[in-house]
Amino acid sequence: MAYSIEITQSTTRKQKPDPNHLIFGKHFTDHMFILDYSVEQGWYNPRIIPYQPITLDPAARVFHYGQTVFEGLKAYRTSEGRTLLFRPDQNFKRLNRSNVRMSIPELDEELAIEGLRKLVEIDQDWIPEVEGTSLYIRPFVIATQASLGVAPSHTYQFLIIMSPVGAYYAEGIHPVKIYVESDYVRTVKGGVGTAKTGGNYAASLKAQEEASGKGYSQVLWLDGVHHKYIEEVGSMNVFFKVNGTVITPELNGSILDGITRKSILELLASWNVPVEERTISIEELYEAHKNGTLEEAFGTGTAAVISPIGQLCWKDEEITLNGGETGELSAKLYDTLTGIQRGVLPDPFGWTM
Ligand code: PMP
Repeated sequence: MAYSIEITQSTTRKQKPDPNHLIFGKHFTDHMFILDYSVEQGWYNPRIIPYQPITLDPAARVFHYGQTVFEGLKAYRTSEGRTLLFRPDQNFKRLNRSNVRMSIPELDEELAIEGLRKLVEIDQDWIPEVEGTSLYIRPFVIATQASLGVAPSHTYQFLIIMSPVGAYYAEGIHPVKIYVESDYVRTVKGGVGTAKTGGNYAASLKAQEEASGKGYSQVLWLDGVHHKYIEEVGSMNVFFKVNGTVITPELNGSILDGITRKSILELLASWNVPVEERTISIEELYEAHKNGTLEEAFGTGTAAVISPIGQLCWKDEEITLNGGETGELSAKLYDTLTGIQRGVLPDPFGWTM
């Protein structure tokens, strides 16, 4: 289906930041995509306009009750000058699952992809070409109705903004120190952990702040009831290699269904690596370390792709994994996935658009 997306080109062009010194999410491209929602019209008026502030009533429900969802994905420039998106259909499917959980009306996923494609095309000279850089894409929905009642908004806006970003690790992939969080929790089953909604991230800041103060780069989240079972790491999914088998917590109703996670599971299956999606406790992990079977651990997400874990600290007991070095499987997964994303390797799964 062809959608009619109105395009208003910016009459000026902003100066682009130095591609060698990009700061995550600081600079935005010349244009943005917007779509409105009202109960009477449904989603309407898709348009691309110059990047600019939006005006909201101070009573807009998003400010008070956090009725909002977002996504994150990247566009890459290949060495032949093609532009690739990585599984954007999966991001818009997940956006709609988040919408359903947050009582926000679902979007037409094809219209969202079409809007994204047009926006990336218009601002394609913003995709940085330096090794490891990309264009980070942030689609999001906000509840705009000016009303202080706790109820689903009657009006919304869906926007897409984009920001050139640098390599996640300036010196290449390297292991990080992780603090196992025993008090604060990210979410609970029945809560909104499976949705990408702002409150989850606001709720995570305190633990992250305290862990940073202790010299750790992220926290490992445990389940919200027993404070015992491993859920995620920072805002990434988490994987462990124990005695040759890759273990990742199953999607249990409080874990975000990561697109990198899904892609890694598909890659591992294609390599015939044994994988278990199951409950794993922090005790089991420490036990595996003690008996020498914990081989590797890593987080997975759009931003870093693979983030190896070098140290874990749980209740004052710090352990070092794989000698604090990036494991063989972590490195292979990173090279393969980034190779497919950047068009350097063939894409047998048809993941790139
Ligand atoms: N968990 C959380 C809480 C996240 O915010 C993210 C980032 N979207 C992920 C996991 C990883 O998801 P993805 O691989 O789709 O980026």
